[in-house]
Amino acid sequence: MSDRPLDPAAEAAAIWADALSLLKRNSSLTAREKGWLEGVVPEAVFGSTIVLCVTNTSAQQALQHDLNEPLLSALSLVAGQEMFPAFKVVPPAKDEPRQETPSRRHRRAERERADARTAPTIADLAQESYVPPQPSPVSIQGQLPIPAAMPPTSFHGGQHKPSLDPETHLNKNATFDTFVPGDSNRFARTVALAVAEGSGRDFNPLCIYGGSGLGKTHLLNAIGNYALVKDPTLKVRYVTSEEFTNEFIEALQNPNQSQGQIAEFNRRYREVDVLLIDDIQFLGGKEATLEQFFHTFNSLYQANKRIVIASDVAPKNLKGFEARLISRFDAGLTVDVKPPDLETRIAILRMMSEMNGSNVPNDVLDLIAERFTENIRELEGALTRVTAVASLSNQPVTRSLAEQTLQDFFTTDVEIKPTDIIGQVAKYFHLTFDDITGRSRTKNVALARQIAMYLAREMTSMSLMDIGEVFGGRDHTTVMHAYTRISDEMREKQEIYNYVMELTVRLKQRSTD
Ligand code: ADP
Ligand code: MG
Repeated sequence: MSDRPLDPAAEAAAIWADALSLLKRNSSLTAREKGWLEGVVPEAVFGSTIVLCVTNTSAQQALQHDLNEPLLSALSLVAGQEMFPAFKVVPPAKDEPRQETPSRRHRRAERERADARTAPTIADLAQESYVPPQPSPVSIQGQLPIPAAMPPTSFHGGQHKPSLDPETHLNKNATFDTFVPGDSNRFARTVALAVAEGSGRDFNPLCIYGGSGLGKTHLLNAIGNYALVKDPTLKVRYVTSEEFTNEFIEALQNPNQSQGQIAEFNRRYREVDVLLIDDIQFLGGKEATLEQFFHTFNSLYQANKRIVIASDVAPKNLKGFEARLISRFDAGLTVDVKPPDLETRIAILRMMSEMNGSNVPNDVLDLIAERFTENIRELEGALTRVTAVASLSNQPVTRSLAEQTLQDFFTTDVEIKPTDIIGQVAKYFHLTFDDITGRSRTKNVALARQIAMYLAREMTSMSLMDIGEVFGGRDHTTVMHAYTRISDEMREKQEIYNYVMELTVRLKQRSTD
């Protein structure tokens, strides 16, 4: 996808042209169905959603239901990634079939809103549950039709999602150019740049710590990307501590140890020139993996290779780490990133909206910056929602639209209890309350639990510690991890985004019943 034009409209046109020619060759489609497809006008791409304009609700219905499957597969095939359509009904400017009176127009608008409200996804899929839902429009509070599947776009470079390099695992869009400096991160940025340039030899290892969504992962990636610009022959590897653990466990579990899986694992990590390891706190307590990491660390360190570590707490506060490893971390340089001040938040939003080619007025940027103070990920998500809703409802981005969008989303007048969230999430995923609060680590249960924790953090005013308590006496770091993970996955995986959206709407509907 990275070769595609950055302009969302041009990108939509290119994807649609290819998808249409594929669909026209699909012999299982009738001429009438192909006729519906011919009438589609692509508008823009947001994340993995392509906005398609149709002239009436019948076309929308046909495309959403009968043609849903071939449409999804054609789009995904040509885009090279999962791609979901969101439909916008735009009646033709001229040649309207009949003159609409104001009251008829009003009824049509009502009907279209009702169509959107009764779209099958939310209610039906909530019953169907764990089967990945097919997106279709929903209307939050019956106001602006927005698709269930509107993923927050990654604004960097206007790309769909982080553009991950298969070899280095770097997100090529997270660079120093797209990192807005401010008092809260200037020092971290400066030393990161020095390490990337190779002049920061004294800062080895560099530990970057700070709260969630403050740019640690961005800086790690920026270091890797810039180091490669300076010297393309370098071996750079970005890895999260979870991936590191999984790769290590896989190597251990490989039955055919004669093939030297562990030796291969060691070779892979010990031959890198720049190791960027993210969210190191999650290695805490994993003794075997930590032991392995300790050896990897030492061998790289002794060979004068660069090591950069990101963590949510200062190294000395890492839990479940041996003192010998913490003292290794302390031997380098530790810097923190803090929540950005108002001016930096506005500057970040401005950059994001400019990169995305969306025209967001200053008073809207101010509003978002005032509302989201602690986390740049949330700041970005809010801007995405506002611009997406404006585009889909064919309205300019105004302060009142922004206010409404942001208010509609997570906030509600009625207090939502964490037990409601657990109950609703359990039902949605066909699990029990006890599954969510229990100890099972089955993939489905773990995912449902993390989503429930995410929603508890978003929809209640409870502290992380209290949420952990409700979820079977878990540590607050577990809740934080779930939150970060789901936030990130919502940007990368369509179905995760859908689950969260649908559950949010259901919980809000419940609370107003
Ligand atoms: P962390 O790893 O600290 O949780 P991330 O690096 O994932 O946070 O940042 C969250 C989001 O905010 C990412 O999309 C990132 O690109 C963006 N971001 C963070 N800091 C900045 C900044 N200073 N300028 C621009 N974007 C930023
Ligand atoms: Mg991170």
